[in-house]
Amino acid sequence: MIVTAQRDYADLVQRGLSLDLTRGKPSPRQLDLSNDLLKLPTSYRAADGTDGRNYGNLQGLAELRELFAPLIQVPAGQIVVGGNSSLAMMHDTVVHALLTQVPGAARRWIEEPEITFLCPVPGYDRHFTICERFGIKMVLVPMNAGGPDMDVVERLVATDASVKGMWCVPKYSNPSGVTYSDETVRRLATMTTAAPDFRIFWDNAYAVHHLTDTPDEVADLLALSAEHGNADRVFVYASTSKVTLAGSGVSFFGGSPANVKWLLHNTSKQSIGPDKINQLRHVEFLGDGGGVAAHMRRHADLIGPKFELVDKVLTERLGDLGTWTSPKGGYFISLEVPHAAEVVARAKAAGIALTPAGATHPYGKDPDDRTIRLAPTFPEPEELEQAINGLAVCVRLVAEERG
Ligand code: PMP
Repeated sequence: MIVTAQRDYADLVQRGLSLDLTRGKPSPRQLDLSNDLLKLPTSYRAADGTDGRNYGNLQGLAELRELFAPLIQVPAGQIVVGGNSSLAMMHDTVVHALLTQVPGAARRWIEEPEITFLCPVPGYDRHFTICERFGIKMVLVPMNAGGPDMDVVERLVATDASVKGMWCVPKYSNPSGVTYSDETVRRLATMTTAAPDFRIFWDNAYAVHHLTDTPDEVADLLALSAEHGNADRVFVYASTSKVTLAGSGVSFFGGSPANVKWLLHNTSKQSIGPDKINQLRHVEFLGDGGGVAAHMRRHADLIGPKFELVDKVLTERLGDLGTWTSPKGGYFISLEVPHAAEVVARAKAAGIALTPAGATHPYGKDPDDRTIRLAPTFPEPEELEQAINGLAVCVRLVAEERG
């Protein structure tokens, strides 16, 4: 058997592939779906009559906030529209919290002896990078089928006042595809926290990114938290990066009135106003919730078959050498195999670039060395099939060699 695995791997290397499955980017054909944006807006007047070409309106156009309010479960008045990147908004809210007291805080986070964020794993590497950048300690929380292990979360937030934050991707999580259950969301909204200024960074990046006709729903954390006296607990984020153009979309922050006031107080020192021409363009292009849903179905038509292809090849070629997810939405498949780092290294040597093993965990260290994040959206199906076939050869080789 081992001879067969080694021969297959030698054949793979011989082919001199150059394939990239690293980042969850939309494919050019997905971007083409939004090409009409390049001809918009037809008018630079906002609904309130103001001139979108000029400075002003730090919070963002009301018509865009109203369009996205039901989709991201935040009242329009409590949304702030950002630039093209919600990640930038997350980064900047952490910086603002370090430098100016968030509502409810006794002092600025930078004055705390230690700050800890809870990190459900596997998770999104760029969340962890923000923490690493500012010396924020990260504590791993295992993900279950309905979201993070809430027994662990409740214990940590109740007993450790240094726990100021928690990263959450509530729908079609990056990379596990998990959607938080109603029970998880209820417990997040109601749990007792030792830190009065604890914040959940609710990164709803895949709120409308369904792959099936039976979309997952997530309970409304912001409303539930407010109902239970914890209105300030939640920072919501979302963007149209994977709805329209990944480099030219719009992003959103949502929160309690106090949090919105705090954020605008900070951003008013940064900018005289956002790009409202882009905001107008998005309102005109997407129209309403139905328009967003129809547009997202066109994405699903393009990427759904890619997810199916990965599932099919893994089923045929890996069998019980690994387990993987079949998400109902989002951008990733999470593959679990023994010796993940070595599999990724073998794939790299064969010209197949995968997200580094460990990237799904804080500090790039997966204690079990098992998780590999697969991003099937960007490559064309033929390349994708080659890459997954090649990956299966690598998994088999490592399994045989390591016994
Ligand atoms: N959050 C998650 C969970 C993501 O997967 C991504 C994109 N990979 C982002 C945020 C980045 O969002 P944006 O393009 O709005 O910065």
